[in-house]
Amino acid sequence: MSVKVTNLVKTYGTQKVLDNISFEANKSQILGFLGPNGAGKTTTMKIITGSLMPDSGKVFVSGMDISSNEIETKRLIGYLAEHNPLYQDMYIREFLDFIASIYKINDKNKKINQLIELTGLGKEQNKQIKQLSKGYKQRVGLAQVLIHDPEVLILDEPTSGLDPNQLREIRNVILETGKNKTVIFSTHIMQEVQALCDRVIILNNGRIVADESIDKLENYVQHTLRSVLVEFETKINISGLKALSSIREVERISENVFKVKGIDDKQIKRDIFDFAKKNDYLLISIHNENIDVDKVFENLTH
Ligand code: ADP
Repeated sequence: MSVKVTNLVKTYGTQKVLDNISFEANKSQILGFLGPNGAGKTTTMKIITGSLMPDSGKVFVSGMDISSNEIETKRLIGYLAEHNPLYQDMYIREFLDFIASIYKINDKNKKINQLIELTGLGKEQNKQIKQLSKGYKQRVGLAQVLIHDPEVLILDEPTSGLDPNQLREIRNVILETGKNKTVIFSTHIMQEVQALCDRVIILNNGRIVADESIDKLENYVQHTLRSVLVEFETKINISGLKALSSIREVERISENVFKVKGIDDKQIKRDIFDFAKKNDYLLISIHNENIDVDKVFENLTH
């Protein structure tokens, strides 16, 4: 099952939101759609799912033009929108039963049980949707879009706003469900793409600036500066921090908080620990910031 997009153009007023986008996604492949907010990811996804018309260009799902095979192609697609509306007062099973009825699924209970198992909803299955955490609501959304067994999954920022544990779990669900499907998955976080995708398309200002295998992207990422955010308890000697060999840039965020950048974030942390110990400074916190997509673009486009 493949998704082929050719020469998509979409404008809102005078703004060209998609400027001649073409790409193809294939079966058993998780294709990451990466780009900063406003790049055109959601617009592309809405067009692929048939919920928005492009000004020009075509989308083919399994070789069928979606504009002339609307019902057949919609059957093949599961779309998890960025702000997926759920009926908050419904219980999980009640909601999935309702969705299964819309799709006229035979043997609804069997299907619902399978999906509850697959998406890890088991221990929460007797709750109302409004009682669930964001991560669990997202699982309900995934179960919802999988109910008609679609061959193509379009997931718009499915991991946004989740905590690290929820992130890991949702990633596993996506990896598991993606095994026999074509998955297109959008995010603005580089690490998400690295964790999940085989291939990545980077969108910026409505244009594809890169269409690469994940290995190639890793190469670019390795040459992108990492940011580490560090907080000391007291005032420190900034020139001492700047002098550490692993650090290329130091930006003061507030009195005792600094953003430092360099190629090797592990070495940066080691150097900062040594620096703190040597000078008897107390470290309050030290952690990596997400890799800045814009910086990777810079590397890619140069
Ligand atoms: P992304 O998903 O990458 O964050 P979007 O596809 O949502 O980007 O948006 C791309 C651009 O299109 C943004 O500048 C956004 O403001 C604009 N846009 C999206 N939908 C509309 C709309 N209905 N009317 C006007 N502008 C829109």
